[in-house]
Amino acid sequence: MEIVNKQPTVKAPAETFTGDAWFDVIAKGEGPSRLRVNVVRFAPGARNAWHSHAVGQTLHVTEGRGLIQARGGQVTEIGPGDTVHTPPGEWHWHGADPDHFMSHLAMWEAPDDGPETRWGALVTDEEYHRR
Ligand code: MN
Repeated sequence: MEIVNKQPTVKAPAETFTGDAWFDVIAKGEGPSRLRVNVVRFAPGARNAWHSHAVGQTLHVTEGRGLIQARGGQVTEIGPGDTVHTPPGEWHWHGADPDHFMSHLAMWEAPDDGPETRWGALVTDEEYHRR
């Protein structure tokens, strides 16, 4: 066994996130493992850009109040204990609600080839507030 050294918390890049979000890498498997687990902490109003995951993603909210939307769907509130799965290739975004922090575990896998995540446009204020 190995107690893994804590890596520094990483500020989510402005190219793919609106507002302040930070993540900690919890697990990044070495082949044949494809495991990817991050804790992501969003400040109020922060959210990631439209994106999709090659092999899908499972989110598990641990704290606060958040929002998630799939392309063509409604902006949906999520909170502690909620688990959301987005299937491979489904475009979506997730983040905090306007007035609260939100933290979630993000779990996904690396694909055989190509990028793990495809990124699109930032979520506009109009999209974010459309409820
Ligand atoms: Mn996602």
